[in-house]
Amino acid sequence: MIYQHNSEKAKNFALGAMQRIQDHGLTPTPEIFELWYVYHSGDNTEVTRALDELLAAGGKLADSACREIHERFLNDTQENEKVRQAGDRIQATIKEVNGVVSDVKDATFKYNSSLSDVSSTLSQAQDRSQIEAAVKKVINNTQDMMRHNQLLEQQLSRSSLVMKELQRDLELVRKEALTDGLTGLANRKAFDTEIKRYLEEVKTPENTFSLVLLDIDHFKSFNDSYGHQVGDQVLRLVARTLIEGVKGRDLAARFGGEEFAIILPETNLQFGMKVADALRRAVAGKEVVNRNNGEKLGRITMSGGVAQYVIGENIDDLIERADAALYTAKHNGRNQIAAAPTPGQKKLAI
Ligand code: GH3
Ligand code: MG
Ligand code: MG
Repeated sequence: MIYQHNSEKAKNFALGAMQRIQDHGLTPTPEIFELWYVYHSGDNTEVTRALDELLAAGGKLADSACREIHERFLNDTQENEKVRQAGDRIQATIKEVNGVVSDVKDATFKYNSSLSDVSSTLSQAQDRSQIEAAVKKVINNTQDMMRHNQLLEQQLSRSSLVMKELQRDLELVRKEALTDGLTGLANRKAFDTEIKRYLEEVKTPENTFSLVLLDIDHFKSFNDSYGHQVGDQVLRLVARTLIEGVKGRDLAARFGGEEFAIILPETNLQFGMKVADALRRAVAGKEVVNRNNGEKLGRITMSGGVAQYVIGENIDDLIERADAALYTAKHNGRNQIAAAPTPGQKKLAI
C-alpha cells in the first residue's frame, strides 16, 4: 500500500496508532502498526468497521484479532503492490525492447541506403582504388549492422529472462494471495472462489458436494492459558492434520480465526459426516507440545457441522446450515460432529 499523507497528517495517524497499541498492550509489529495507522487515517472503511466492532465489544484487544483484520483487509493491498511492481517491470522491459528494435530499424534503413550508394559507386567506378573503397564501406556498414543485431539479440535474451522471472513472481503472488499466512491452508478468499466453482459444477443431486465447518473447542481459554504463540502452533497443528486427512480434490481452508472449512466434492451428507468425524478424531488424537520448551499441553478437540449442498441453494444458505449444525454440536457438549438436515429430505439416520 502506498500512503500519501503529508508529514503532519502522517505524524498524527502514527501517534494515534501507537497510543492504541499501548492502550491495548498490543505488539507493535509492522502489521499491527499499519492496521491502526489505517484506522486513524479513516482511508479504509472495512478496517474502520472491523476495528470499531472490536472496540465496541469492550475489553483488551488481542494481537491475533488485529492480525486477522490486517490479513483480511490489508494483505490484499500488499499483493496488489507486488503485482503493480511486476507490471512496472514488464512496462520497462517492453520499453527497452522497443528502443532497441527501433535502433535496429534505423540501422537497417541506413544500411540499405548505403548499399544502394555503394552499388551506384561501383557501377561508375573508374579504377581499382574506387572499388576497394566501396568494398571497404560495405564491410564497415555490414559490421555495424551485425553489431546492432547482436545488441538486439542480447537485449531480447535478457528480456526473456526477466519475463520468465516475472512469470514466476506473479505465480508466487497469486499463490500467496490465496494462502493463509499462518497455516498454509487455502484462505477465505480461495474458499469463496472455490465453493462458487463447485456449486456451478453440481448438475445432479448424485454428484453434489458437502461442506464441513470445524471450530476448535474452548480455544479462547487455551490462548489465555498458554499465550497466542502457542495458540498459533495449535492452529498449524490442526491445519497439518486436516491436510493429512483430506485427499484428491477436497479443499481444506482457514475459514476464520479458529474455524476451518472443508469442501468435499462428490460427497453426500452421510459420507461427509464420516470424513468430518475422522478429522475430528485425528485432531483429538494429537498431543499439543509447546515447541519452545517441549512441555506437553494435553489435547485439543473440535466441533463440526456438515451440510450437503442442495441444487439451487445459494452459498450463504449452505454456510448458514453448516454453521447451525456446528452450533448444535457445540451445544450438545462439543468434540462431536452434527449433520445439518437437508431441505426436502428425511432426517439422516447415522
Ligand atoms: P467455543 O468452544 O465455543 O468455540 O469457544 P472458543 O473459546 O473456541 O470460541 P471463541 O469464539 O470465544 O474464541 C475464539 C478464540 O480464538 C478467540 C481468539 O483468541 C482465538 N483466535 C482466533 N484467531 C486466532 C489466531 O490467529 N491465533 C490465535 N492464537 N488465536 C486466535
Ligand atoms: Mg469460533
Ligand atoms: Mg472455538
